[in-house]
Amino acid sequence: MFLETDLERTFLAIKPDGVQRGLVGEIIRRFETKGFTLVGLKFMKVSKELAEKHYDVHRERPFFPGLVEFIISSPVVAMVWEGEGVVAAARKIIGATNPLTAEPGTIRGDFGVNVGRNLIHGSDAQETAQTEIALWFKEEELVAWQPHSAPWLSE
Ligand code: ADP
Repeated sequence: MFLETDLERTFLAIKPDGVQRGLVGEIIRRFETKGFTLVGLKFMKVSKELAEKHYDVHRERPFFPGLVEFIISSPVVAMVWEGEGVVAAARKIIGATNPLTAEPGTIRGDFGVNVGRNLIHGSDAQETAQTEIALWFKEEELVAWQPHSAPWLSE
């Protein structure tokens, strides 16, 4: 029996290249049709402070300044998705970091060619997801709801 407490949440963000290339609908569709539930969504420009906090683990990497400039350069779509195993499953749907080696059928494998323009961010673990959700969203911006399809997705 699938319990509501088994539900987990992940943080996803369609990066500026995904928005500029008109891929917002296509990207959201992949998570929606898979059977995950959208619980938070906002279209926003990212502040430098938020971008630096989000990518803090990469602060010492040579690509960090360019990555921050890219993320703040144009709007992003920040989202929280919920569902059984959503953190790992979303990473699979997204594909490998480098779009050139990402498998066809993944978002990065289907739409990207360069590691610095890989369209979408997804939390890499449940703990990271919790940190990132708290960083990007206020509690009241998240909507707890049960889609009518729930009994048809899980036994
Ligand atoms: P992922 O987004 O797949 O979790 P990482 O956490 O390793 O990947 O890296 C975070 C982001 O930093 C990547 O999505 C990409 O936008 C950028 N990045 C990583 N490696 C490079 C690189 N070598 N050159 C430019 N940008 C990079």
